[in-house]
Amino acid sequence: MFEETIQFIKSQFGTSDFIPLHEPRFNGREKEYLLDCIDSTYVSSVGAYVDRFEAMLADFTGAAFAIATVNGTSGIHAALRLAGVESGDEVITQSLTFIATANAISYCGATPCFVDVDRDTMGLSADALRDFLVEQTTFDADLGRLVNKQTGRAITACLPMHTFGHPCRIDEIVSICREYELPVIEDAAESLGSLFQSKHTGTFGDMGVFSFNGNKTITCGGGGAIITNDPELAKRAKHITTTAKIPHRWDFVHDEIAYNYRMPNLNAALACAQLEQLDEFLISQRKLAETYAAYFATQEPTFITEPVNSRSNYWLNALILKDRQERDAFLEATNNANVMTRPIWRLMNQLEMYQHAPHGTLKNSEWLEERVVNIPSSVRPV
Ligand SMILES: *Cc1c(COP(=O)(O)O)cnc(C)c1O
Repeated sequence: MFEETIQFIKSQFGTSDFIPLHEPRFNGREKEYLLDCIDSTYVSSVGAYVDRFEAMLADFTGAAFAIATVNGTSGIHAALRLAGVESGDEVITQSLTFIATANAISYCGATPCFVDVDRDTMGLSADALRDFLVEQTTFDADLGRLVNKQTGRAITACLPMHTFGHPCRIDEIVSICREYELPVIEDAAESLGSLFQSKHTGTFGDMGVFSFNGNKTITCGGGGAIITNDPELAKRAKHITTTAKIPHRWDFVHDEIAYNYRMPNLNAALACAQLEQLDEFLISQRKLAETYAAYFATQEPTFITEPVNSRSNYWLNALILKDRQERDAFLEATNNANVMTRPIWRLMNQLEMYQHAPHGTLKNSEWLEERVVNIPSSVRPV
């Protein structure tokens, strides 16, 4: 079963060896920048590559400011804190996501509140969000806050995610959240290079966060970044991710309890070299996706293409199998044949630590969770 599909995937990568889901490519100036960084001795928490990477990333995304962080999870954590999320609050997010989204909420002492996704984008559903807000929340005039009627807790932010690089309906989500005065932080960890209505993901909400982990579109080993158009938020983001140290030539004065979340200069050197190749990577990723789309157009399973009005980075290509049984058969056959595939994440509310978290109806999340599988998506070697 699936023999022909397996051969087709193998032919795309020109190897009979193990084909990973997403491996990095270092075809640019990575070694040169790393050596330069080591020679300079500035490998750690200060250095020119951090500033350079932040400027390059702001330029690429069209955001006014970018603040590099040690990874994407810490970037989301810091962004939530800056949005005003406090211990005891709730943050609306999707249940169909990578664990980091929910964990970053927990790091604030807050609880995730799970709302359904759309089937086509696999990201937070604007319709489900509106339904949830209308039916399940009330504005507490005394507290001056939006409250979850079931739990009595304040809902203080919304954290949608752009799944596998496919943009969610972020314009509608932002406008609904504006009505309810909820800050929006985009978990854009997977969507560097993805546009919604020609505008970069991560620039719609108050802040957006990227990840440069080893499996992402570009990597610097480990790293992340917060982007924003708000100068005050940008200043605060830099401050709380760098231990809230007041700049001074020798004095160590810190004005609040903050985080050591700064990206080391060594990683930033790698990040600069990778970002220089992003346009090429995106062309390659799109070509692979088009090849997959053409192949699966005439046969099962269904290949997931970019949603309307958007341009996906096609970070991880994905298929929809008929049902859970067929999904499992596909996972078994492909992995046995050295072609790495994996199911989409377990729903967060099915994990032990989030089983009691509040949630709305999760029909689409459950439907996708049973059927979606990722297939090899590396930038192909040149
Ligand atoms: C990769 C990822 C992150 C952040 O991951 P880090 O490994 O901390 O950089 C956050 N959210 C999602 C959805 C991700 O895929």
